[in-house]
Amino acid sequence: MPMFSRYNHFLPWQNGSWLAYNARSGAVALMDKKQYAAFGDLSQKMIEGKMDNLTQAERELLLQLQYGFFVHVDDFSELDWLNFEHLRARYAETVLALAVAPTLACNMACTYCFEGDKRGRMSTTVAQDLIEFIKKRSQRIRLLDVTWYGGEPLLALDIIKEFTSKVIDLSSQCGFQYVSMMITNGYLLSADVVDRLVELKCTGVQVTLDGPPQMHDKRRPLKNGLGTFRTIIQNLKYASAKMAVSIRVNIDKSSSIEMIRQLLAELKVANLESRIGINYAMVEASTAACAGIADSCYGSIDFAKVEAEYYSLLLSEGFFIGKLPVPNNSYCIAQQINSFVVDPDGDLYRCFAYVGDKSKSMGKISDDINYQHPEFTRLFRFDPFVDEACRACSILPLCMGSCPAKRVDRQVSRELICSSWKYNLEPMLKIIALSRLQQMQQVAVAAKEEV
Ligand code: SF4
Ligand code: SF4
Repeated sequence: MPMFSRYNHFLPWQNGSWLAYNARSGAVALMDKKQYAAFGDLSQKMIEGKMDNLTQAERELLLQLQYGFFVHVDDFSELDWLNFEHLRARYAETVLALAVAPTLACNMACTYCFEGDKRGRMSTTVAQDLIEFIKKRSQRIRLLDVTWYGGEPLLALDIIKEFTSKVIDLSSQCGFQYVSMMITNGYLLSADVVDRLVELKCTGVQVTLDGPPQMHDKRRPLKNGLGTFRTIIQNLKYASAKMAVSIRVNIDKSSSIEMIRQLLAELKVANLESRIGINYAMVEASTAACAGIADSCYGSIDFAKVEAEYYSLLLSEGFFIGKLPVPNNSYCIAQQINSFVVDPDGDLYRCFAYVGDKSKSMGKISDDINYQHPEFTRLFRFDPFVDEACRACSILPLCMGSCPAKRVDRQVSRELICSSWKYNLEPMLKIIALSRLQQMQQVAVAAKEEV
């Protein structure tokens, strides 16, 4: 007997139609009035156990619902399957994911930065140790996925270049694929640098803009106090023609809809609206270095509210909505056995927020990995499947229990742990669906004009 998924979300759409979303598959379907009525009839038959009595249309609908995981057979436990997939992702060794900080130095002095005033730059010896670290694992991996971050990674472009040329040779010798992207503040991302990054197989950048010029420059100035907004926008015009560019906008209680409106207007003047993705991120006091900003940070419920408002503004201003409720088998690198953060000295960590804090290092890249090291096990062991609230949660496949460091190290309240999807899935689904419809209409208009 088929059963409904516990991860279904149905919401009313336009003219009597309904939007159906399943968090385990990520499938979204639009049911018109007639299909929704057929769905009602089918549901009734399922509840009453009259499955021998289905019409041809109901049979077809049932197949589609099974395909999108909206319905499953009754002896199947979705929770057990999710747990199985979670364990598989935890122990997968075919992908080696490294977040590498070639330097901890930065040219900016952001008011909320979790890294404090750290320094340090990777030596050629450590870069070579990193190549050896990869070489040791090269027979088992199919993919090496490197995220460059820092500090500001572009202050160490020479190290990135040296590492990349060796890693590309290694990937062709050993037959694994190499991909990379960079988290940069964007100030040094000139046209020359973009061209070099593309040569170095870096196919995307994430750059932070914290509002219109006056606000961004106040929050993200250079070390000497000068503003950075105009240079970054100039850089993004070229970068967005050559690589994927995603903009992160940090949101705290000082952010406002007016500020977002002004930022979008600036991006439109620079013709960037169809060439970049925008993501809003909740500013959090994640380490002692930024404990002073805790009062200005939102909790998840309030953040979810403003997040939906700000995405709605993106939609009305003609920007593409890139954020999607996509299922994840694990929340982050802290729970993946083959993912590490590497600092310029070759120390390994389980969490982005701890890079450079030697008390949180789980060892060196030049040594064998100690999987019993407390700095490995502490975050790795966190298991969302023993948390009753997560087991019962209808968005568990999207969230997977959230950030292990928040749970284990910071022991923050449930309200700060839960993903914003928990509080704004419905309005966000509507915004995303409208965005896709808008896109389809634009494609149809463009195709007509071509004819
Ligand atoms: S443990 Fe939390 S802060 Fe650390 S990398 Fe994972 S999600 Fe980020
Ligand atoms: S942390 Fe919260 S939102 Fe995430 S799965 Fe658990 S209960 Fe759900």
